[in-house]
Amino acid sequence: MRSTGQAPTKPLLAAPDRRRLLATLVPAAWPVISWGAPLAARAADLRGEPAVESISVIRSRLELQFAPGFSASLQAAARTWVRTSADAVARYFGRFPVPKVELLLVPEDGSGVRGGVTYDNPSLLIRVRLGRETTEAQFIDDWVLVHEMVHLVIPQIPRSQNWLHEGVATYVESVARGRVGLVSPATVWRVWAADMPQGQPKAGDAGLDHTPTWGRTYWGGAMFCLMADVELLKRSSQRFGLQHALQGVLAAGGNYGESWSVDRILSTADAAVGQTILTDLYRRMKDSSEPVDLVGLWRSLGVDGGTLNDDAPLAKVRRAILS
Ligand SMILES: [Zn+2]
Repeated sequence: MRSTGQAPTKPLLAAPDRRRLLATLVPAAWPVISWGAPLAARAADLRGEPAVESISVIRSRLELQFAPGFSASLQAAARTWVRTSADAVARYFGRFPVPKVELLLVPEDGSGVRGGVTYDNPSLLIRVRLGRETTEAQFIDDWVLVHEMVHLVIPQIPRSQNWLHEGVATYVESVARGRVGLVSPATVWRVWAADMPQGQPKAGDAGLDHTPTWGRTYWGGAMFCLMADVELLKRSSQRFGLQHALQGVLAAGGNYGESWSVDRILSTADAAVGQTILTDLYRRMKDSSEPVDLVGLWRSLGVDGGTLNDDAPLAKVRRAILS
């Protein structure tokens, strides 16, 4: 189990900027998945009985556990935030990724959503640390919970291939939140254009499967997802994208409660949209240190910093990603 670091006590920036700041200063603050370690921390979280309630999202059940120390008002605000986050995820995938998950919220001093971890053992659990002074605006800006919920879609894979898990969580989090209006399309593209270069190979890189650095894991994986999404949408005249491919994984019984190979995940996703784009892209990138032409990609999508150009050749694809 890896632990998450501390977020700044008083975030002064909107979530995407705060994320960039965190990425620069304390990469360990990023939400993570754990590899089957029993949750020893849970006993320490629960010095006393948690307040437990159940939230339904379509046909799924979220067991929401408030560790001792929540005020009634914080509990109400957190409940709304959980509901909003779960709805954004369910809207993207057409359902919530798993039939049941526990969500343990642990209060601590300060404000803001302070980090999350998703566990698979002994049962599916997302644990999030939450500042007692978190404001409504901070809840709306939060990306951590959606990121953790997206992890539930991808089956467990070998740790060396964690870039796929973190890449999907990083990429889909922005798309899912953008689609329900929690973040604007201009902000999403601006942040991707600024941050995605951190996923490019550096000296000594041996491809996505063999370079477990922070940049390659989170942004290299997100870059893989963006390239796949663009290619899928382009070839289908915007009818099918990564969304539909990942929905195919869920439809085939894949989720974080299962163990699959990366090849199986990608071929299942491809089959759902009648393509081999994800598998082909994986073959190209898994052992290769060749950089992606991001500058050319932004130009063809019509992304120029925070300005979006609708006359660009792939402007329709760009709009389809966030609408
Ligand atoms: Zn993660």
